[in-house]
Order: sequence, then structure tokens, then C-alpha cells
Amino acid sequence: MTAGASGIGRVIADQLYDQGATVYICDISPDALGAVSEDERMRCHQVDVSDVVQVAKLLETIEKEQGRLDILINNAGIAGPTAGVEDVSVEDWRATLAVDLDGVFYVTKYATPLLKKSTSSAIVNMSSNAAFSGCPLRSPYSAAKWAIVGLTKTWAMELGGDQIRVNALCPGSVEGARIDRVMANDAKERGVDQAEIRRIYESQSSLKRFVEAKDIASMVLFLVSDSGRYISGQAIGIDGHTESLASLS
Ligand code: NAD
Repeated sequence: MTAGASGIGRVIADQLYDQGATVYICDISPDALGAVSEDERMRCHQVDVSDVVQVAKLLETIEKEQGRLDILINNAGIAGPTAGVEDVSVEDWRATLAVDLDGVFYVTKYATPLLKKSTSSAIVNMSSNAAFSGCPLRSPYSAAKWAIVGLTKTWAMELGGDQIRVNALCPGSVEGARIDRVMANDAKERGVDQAEIRRIYESQSSLKRFVEAKDIASMVLFLVSDSGRYISGQAIGIDGHTESLASLS
């Protein structure tokens, strides 16, 4: 479970734990990791998913301690810059893709041999509604989230013969600190009030409201359970049906 110490990942990790799973949380933030109660079935590791050496070491530890992996949740993903394409710095572009795309590849690369040791395993990749519609002022983020859908379909084909199912989740705006930061940046970039940005984000979904992390976790639990045993290669929206992410008009 990557980026499992706070935000959506924390809710997923707690629900998997409550179902009896032994959960390995990796997260870059020592503070967030410090707030998780560790025990035999909830194990915390400080890992930056964009660092291939750290990722390989974590999977080596899991192999030593558990011998196999049943579920991989590729949840880590940073928001990246809020800027028009001509204003996105090369450094910000690379830094966003390093976490949001390279990290997903590194973790999956080193986790796959362990997933193959399970008789039925599942990968869930966290994409976004930005994958389907594009997302103005979020070039590196939307590029990575589109790429994750491509990887999901590719890995579903590559790994299906090993009974590994691979799906992507595409949440809309999820209530929490992260979307508040995104809206604040968007408001600043566009020179409008943050309340107006929230009104616009809400209006972009048919249900006219934000998603909650527990809704993402419920779908994860379904997909990794026996109920989801025939579901693979899908990119599933959990977004109240995003009609458009078109910018202010
Ligand atoms: P968040 O910003 O709240 O971050 C969650 C955790 O990620 C934090 O504990 C942070 O320390 C960790 N993290 C950041 N960089 C890391 C790295 N390099 N390596 C390991 N851990 C790292 O994020 P969130 O809102 O919980 O989002 C989780 C996932 O859901 C992301 O992939 C995000 O793109 C996706 N998503 C979020 C929303 C939303 O509205 N929040 C919408 C659609 C998709």
C-alpha cells in the first residue's frame, strides 16, 4: 500500500486491516507514519516511491517477512503544479512524473514476482477522473493519470495468465486536505475566490458533490475480494459521473 499513512491511502489501509489483512504501508512522510499505530499486521516503512533503490529494498523486506503479496495498491501520487503548459517548469514536470508514474512502475516491477507467488492477487492503481477528460492547468498530473490507465490495461493482459487482476480507480474530487490545497492553487492561478472554485468543481459532476475516501476504499475492498474475481483491465470512475473538467467559462 503506497502512500498509506494519510489521506485516501490511510482509509484504504485501515479497511484492509479491519478485514484481517497484514498491511505494509509505505509513505514518504515520517510525521504521517508516526501517527499510524503499528503492530504485527500494520507495518510502516518510510519509502519514497520515486526512489527505485528504496522501493526494491521494501519489496525485499516483504518477501523475507511474508514470502508473497496478495494485494498491491499503487496509491501514491502528488498533485504537481497548477500552471498553464508554458509556465510548468521542467523540474516540476519531472518531479510529478517521478512520483505519479515512475513510482507506479517501480513498485509494480518489484512487487510482481511476489504477486505471482499468490494464487489469486490484485493490483489497484490510483488514477483520477483527470485521466478521462484532461485537466486544465495540471499537465504533468493528467499525463501521469492517463498513463496509469494504459499501464493498467497492459498489465492486466501481461499478468492475467498468472491470475493477477489489475484495475485502475478514477476518483473525482475527494473531500480532504489535498483537494483544499488544489482548489486554493487553482483559485490563485485564476484570480478567483476559492468558494467559486469549489462551486465549479462540484458542478462538474452529475451528483454535484465531492467523493469521500471511504467510497474509494469500498471499491478497493470489492475489487480485491472474491466478488471482484472477474474484473480486470478496467478504469473505474468513482466521481459521481464527471461531465467535464473544462475550466471557468
Ligand atoms: P495526499 O496528498 O493526501 O497524500 C497522501 C500521502 O502520500 C501522504 O501521506 C504523503 O506523505 C504520501 N506521499 C507523497 N509523496 C510520496 C512519495 N513520493 N512516496 C510515498 N508516499 C508519498 O493524497 P490523497 O488525496 O490521499 O490521494 C491519493 C491518491 O489518489 C493520489 O494518487 C491522487 O492523485 C489520487 N486522487 C486524489 C484525489 C483527491 O481529490 N484527493 C482525486 C483523484 C485522485
